[in-house]
Amino acid sequence: MSRRVTATIHLDALRHNLAQVRARVPHSKVMAVVKADGYGHGLERVARALSDADAFGVASIADGERIRAIGLPHRVVVLSGIDEPGDVATMHALALEPVIHHESQLPWLEADTDPRPMPVWLKVDSGMHRLGFEPSDAAAVHARLSALPHIAGRIQLLSHFARSDEFGIDATAKQIETFSNATRPFDGERSLANSAAILGWPAAHADWVRAGGVLYGVSAVAGRSGSEFGFRPAMTLTARLISIKTVARGEAIGYGGSWICPEDMPIGIVAIGYGDGYPRVAEAGTPVLLRGRRAGTVGRVSMDLMSIDLRAHPDARIGDEVTLWGPELPVEEIGARAGTIGYELICGMTRRVDFVER
Ligand code: PLP
Repeated sequence: MSRRVTATIHLDALRHNLAQVRARVPHSKVMAVVKADGYGHGLERVARALSDADAFGVASIADGERIRAIGLPHRVVVLSGIDEPGDVATMHALALEPVIHHESQLPWLEADTDPRPMPVWLKVDSGMHRLGFEPSDAAAVHARLSALPHIAGRIQLLSHFARSDEFGIDATAKQIETFSNATRPFDGERSLANSAAILGWPAAHADWVRAGGVLYGVSAVAGRSGSEFGFRPAMTLTARLISIKTVARGEAIGYGGSWICPEDMPIGIVAIGYGDGYPRVAEAGTPVLLRGRRAGTVGRVSMDLMSIDLRAHPDARIGDEVTLWGPELPVEEIGARAGTIGYELICGMTRRVDFVER
């Protein structure tokens, strides 16, 4: 039997999730964030499935090029902007829209002699302190951009939240206020909300929301899965049970001998490991699904294999399919058992994982 780890991508779930976002933000346009290879689901398949979106958000020009290569005509916003002067010509050629977040980018735009219009997104740092201009500099930057004929009148405004997944806190309310004050004098559409703000911060919906995680059915809100908000997971990760053996009481399982059998017990070996993108640091007891019921991992996850406790699965057979996450087993829960978030897991599938669409 071949070793087969499969990420099944549910295209209908992607479409359902976009419809759910729209229902929550009826007065906003939706930018579907498809960076990091469509959050690990495959950029092209995700962009095609989400072709009802009003725009796509990507991290790099290369991502934008992939969207153009499959013929999609949507607006594409490069969220990390332009990194070097030559990027401006590439943005023109591909009709991409840069985020302008730093002083160093302005001379490149000012030196641009291509007369074709270029919409840009002026980023204000309203409190996350990652990318963006100081609120007090926004007016001067806006004036410099407005002096460029191919950009004037095409300046959108955006900011990003640091803690929108914590509903009701002051820090996010303050970011909304800071952004609103800094951008009040300007025309142009505004965008603040990521997934968590779509769910919990209606005051931030503005003209455009930038939806990432929820489109893949994954929530960034601690302790709550995407399905609790009406979204459907778009990825199911499965592998095969390739061995079953009885291990005696007191014997240790796997590298480091970190898990000791409390009794003579059946142990299943599943052909998936950190070489596929399953987190090595997932603690013992992290659930998998076998024949519709949960089993827990035992011992350490290794590169190609992991071990599971089969005491509650006398019906398990070699060749059985094991689900690592998916609609019946939230990836957010696996992330929590591995000290991370579901986002990181879905983005982390390696090249040896087979992708199929359903
Ligand atoms: N906007 C920006 C600037 C981002 O960096 C991201 C993702 O990190 C998003 C929007 C989408 O965030 P989320 O996946 O939480 O919806």
